[in-house]
Amino acid sequence: MWNRRRHALTVVAAFLLVLVIGCTSSRDTASAGRGEESGTSLRGEAVTGSRSNGVGRPTIVVTTSILGDVVGELVGDQAEVVTIMPAGVDPHEFSPSAKQVDQIRRADVLIANGAGFEAGLVDVIRAARADGVAVYDAISAVEALTLDDDGHRLSGESGSGHEHDERGTSVSPAVADQGTTVVDPHFFTDPRRMASAVRGISDFVVANVAQLDAASVQARTKAYVAALENLDAELATMFGVIPAERRVLVTNHEVFRYFADRYGFEVVGAVIPGGATADEPSAADLDALARLMKAKNVRAVFADVASSDKLAHALAAEVGGDVRVVELFSESLGGPASGAATYLEMMRTNGQRIVEALR
Ligand SMILES: [Zn+2]
Repeated sequence: MWNRRRHALTVVAAFLLVLVIGCTSSRDTASAGRGEESGTSLRGEAVTGSRSNGVGRPTIVVTTSILGDVVGELVGDQAEVVTIMPAGVDPHEFSPSAKQVDQIRRADVLIANGAGFEAGLVDVIRAARADGVAVYDAISAVEALTLDDDGHRLSGESGSGHEHDERGTSVSPAVADQGTTVVDPHFFTDPRRMASAVRGISDFVVANVAQLDAASVQARTKAYVAALENLDAELATMFGVIPAERRVLVTNHEVFRYFADRYGFEVVGAVIPGGATADEPSAADLDALARLMKAKNVRAVFADVASSDKLAHALAAEVGGDVRVVELFSESLGGPASGAATYLEMMRTNGQRIVEALR
């Protein structure tokens, strides 16, 4: 009996090892598309499996694929960046494996989107905090937008107008949990807000991961913020060709408010009205949105490649005419050849598709 159990444990250990190898090689594949570091990248070659306690490279665990890419840009090869959600998943619906729960709890530091975005990780993150893992919610660094209970935008007032050094005082994720005022978690659709988050993440890892070379991380942060500023300027120029009356967005769920806020688009509605993807709209909701789209002459429904677009197609069919469904990478990166292997690529691809659909 004892031997059999021990054998079973060996099999489990071997299986976990295979998982670890499988996982790290996919991370290598993902970072190979990055260009500047491929070939020499040490990232992903070894999972430390436990807190490093100052020995070897530290492990920074990141929840979403978008933030995993960004954190990799900031720390380079100085840390093991473990991204929990693979490219192409719906972050609202994601559940971690037992191994990933363990990775989160053993992290040197954990970086999350926050505001309830990673619904399936909330309990694990809470447990990691209780275990003493330093956790940073990227949204705590940005000027947040809020929603009411029905998922409608209230205003940018709650959490807005604060200077960078006051961040976190008004948009704590606890607010999102209280129900009355809900912080919209999708800040990453606005590159300027992403730049704020990047500065916040950079300060956090420098303060909490002793093994990092602060000057190097700060230099990389400066370069990446400059890349985000270039991206932002490029997108603003691109959208200039869309006439004002056509700067309207109908999306699969409420994901592009920050984007709309930044580039002067109007969010006419969403197939799934809330800030998550799990709710189902009623037939009356869809009817009302279809009427609104006809009245405003909206010609596209933007759906996320990672979520079901069935309802988006149903809506487009109900509106009729030449309304089409256009896929965007809105909350998860795509694979290596998708045109959305990195955050910068993803935003450019989305921008081009939006221009093609609305110009
Ligand atoms: Zn979402």
